[in-house]
Amino acid sequence: MHKQVKSTCCYCGVGCGLLIETDKDRIVGVRGDPEHPANLGRLCTKGASLHLTARPDYRLLHPELRRQRQLPRQRVGWEQALDHAAERFAEIIAAHGPDSVAFYISGQLLTEDYYVFNKLAKGLIGTNNVDTNSRLCMSSAVAGYKQTLGADAPPCCYEDIAVTDCLLIAGANPAVAHPIVFRRIEDARAANPGLRIIVIDPRRSESAAIADLHLALKPGTDIALYNGLLHVLLGEDLVDREYIAAHTEGFAALEQTVAAFPPAVVAEICALAEAEIIQAARWFGRSAAALSLYCQGLNQSSHGTHNNAALIHLHLATGQIGRPGAGPFSLTGQPNAMGGREVGGLANLLSAHRDLANPEHRAEVARLWGLPSVPAQPGKAAVELFAALKRGEIKAVWIACTNPAQSLPDQGTVRAALQAADFVVLQEAFANTDTAAYADLMLPATTWGEKEGTVTNSERCITHITPAVSRPGEARADWEIVVDFARRLGARLAQPLTGQLFPYASPEAIFNEHRESTRGRDLDITGLSYALLDSAGPQQWPFPEGASSGRRRLYADGVFPTPSGRARFVAVEHRPTAESTDDTHSISLLSGRLRDQWHGMSRTGTVARLFNLDDEPLLSMHPADLRQRGLVSGDVAHVGNARGQLHVRVKPDAGLLRGRAWLPMHWGSQFMNSAGVNALTLSACDPFSQQPELKHAAVAVARADLP
Ligand code: SF4
Repeated sequence: MHKQVKSTCCYCGVGCGLLIETDKDRIVGVRGDPEHPANLGRLCTKGASLHLTARPDYRLLHPELRRQRQLPRQRVGWEQALDHAAERFAEIIAAHGPDSVAFYISGQLLTEDYYVFNKLAKGLIGTNNVDTNSRLCMSSAVAGYKQTLGADAPPCCYEDIAVTDCLLIAGANPAVAHPIVFRRIEDARAANPGLRIIVIDPRRSESAAIADLHLALKPGTDIALYNGLLHVLLGEDLVDREYIAAHTEGFAALEQTVAAFPPAVVAEICALAEAEIIQAARWFGRSAAALSLYCQGLNQSSHGTHNNAALIHLHLATGQIGRPGAGPFSLTGQPNAMGGREVGGLANLLSAHRDLANPEHRAEVARLWGLPSVPAQPGKAAVELFAALKRGEIKAVWIACTNPAQSLPDQGTVRAALQAADFVVLQEAFANTDTAAYADLMLPATTWGEKEGTVTNSERCITHITPAVSRPGEARADWEIVVDFARRLGARLAQPLTGQLFPYASPEAIFNEHRESTRGRDLDITGLSYALLDSAGPQQWPFPEGASSGRRRLYADGVFPTPSGRARFVAVEHRPTAESTDDTHSISLLSGRLRDQWHGMSRTGTVARLFNLDDEPLLSMHPADLRQRGLVSGDVAHVGNARGQLHVRVKPDAGLLRGRAWLPMHWGSQFMNSAGVNALTLSACDPFSQQPELKHAAVAVARADLP
């Protein structure tokens, strides 16, 4: 009998619970945890293969340092590594100021790791230059919720899928990206013959294949579509005037906006049929409970925030929120994107959903941390952070648990930035990422199965996880690395701190400080502790002191966390994608995920069986578009634009309309002769969320006659 330790899957934001099986301090198996509310024992192919990734050959096991760029890194001890890092950061800060350094972290870190990174940058150093790869997946959802509902809080729970009558899946493909959520959708379909499923996606995805209605809209036309749906709801008297009057504000202005979006106009903008738009609106408006699930297709857009707001409007206008089976439910891409948001681990946020732009919030955080102040100057969000690195405004960057040399758009710029930096630190578990080539200092971190802390999944559910096995080599927990560095840096700064800013001896001490910072906030977790999470199991926030359980759904009382207590309609206008196709670059390139791979494949790329379904990145295009270019299935195509190029085999896909192509996002330089799809994407960002438009680029596709 193997020893079993409860944990969670480290891939997607569903946050499935699992049991790690160990033998002689080695991970030998995983099983779904039947007691975890996210998955009730189920796992997808990725989660069920996690034990196969627990191997040392891809791991970074010792600190490595190079003092000159042209030299290879050499193994060093932790003392030397962290002293060197502290000296370099202190020198750069002394010479160029606190905003000359930056931290780029990850939605795969635990909440406690995130908390200390945030405190290191904003508290100790005095810069808000701390951002995260969650900027690439969730920041438009954050801004969309805040603009409309007043707080970054998904109001729904997974159980809503079982009790909804109309499921609108928008810009998401849970069949491959959130498979255990998709199992719930399949169960709901089997149990409720009246359930209507509408999928909005420019491509006929695996999720669209089970839809009653698939709206294959033109990329980037989401706002026009949602405005058009609201236009139909108004015209057919399917809005809830009582709810609008009692619980919202701003509807009159939006009504004027959507008057310009009748179905005929929207059909033209979105390349859809009028009848499809009317049908979708009727199903949504006439259902007893309508639920939306949405993700990167909405978020990764140069108008992602308003994509989110326009969808949320449908729920507010029909009163489809705060009830079982109803509400706008943003799915998170990464396992702890939510936790990072909770501790304010982005350049524009502060702890416990506080806003950097709010002086009272800054004062509250300064008080909590025992500091005179925290800086007001906004930090640089991901794309701008690397642009500033390239310009030389930022001199040193500390990257943790993420791979910007693959995952950020416009890789030409990002790689030039990493090359130009004075000092690059990479805190990582894996040695096989594209970013490793640019690191002057590599610090080995522990990873899945080796860490203690908390994670929050898409439905606001917090799980406490503990290590199943010992750390390999000299790897250290992420929070420990940060705290050790912070103490060394603190002693070297021009004005060393007198108080103890990093007194932690365990992740629990960090959790307890974070917990206190949430008191009275929308995400109040003052009733939670590691002990309670262990004895009662995972819990949803809010969970204030004195509560006996977390809250399944938010806004049941129709009161929203805005100054007026009312949810807000935002006047949202249709705007096209940042980059349009033209005669030279005539193909709209879309990107997405495959079922068996995760992000840049540093983990899934080590498991042979995860290549059984898809063993290389294939460019999907309509058969007629392939024929027009003299391409047949399996031929190699050249895909390019002014930013970059790549060569990939093609695959016919009649589920794509002509003029569109789709490429999986997972392959980077470690696996192909290019930076992958992000060699081609552009750095245009949403003005509110600063999330880049990763979902669309204009490219030319031609036959490649490779030698
Ligand atoms: Fe892991 Fe997501 Fe699969 Fe669950 S659905 S096992 S969290 S990858």
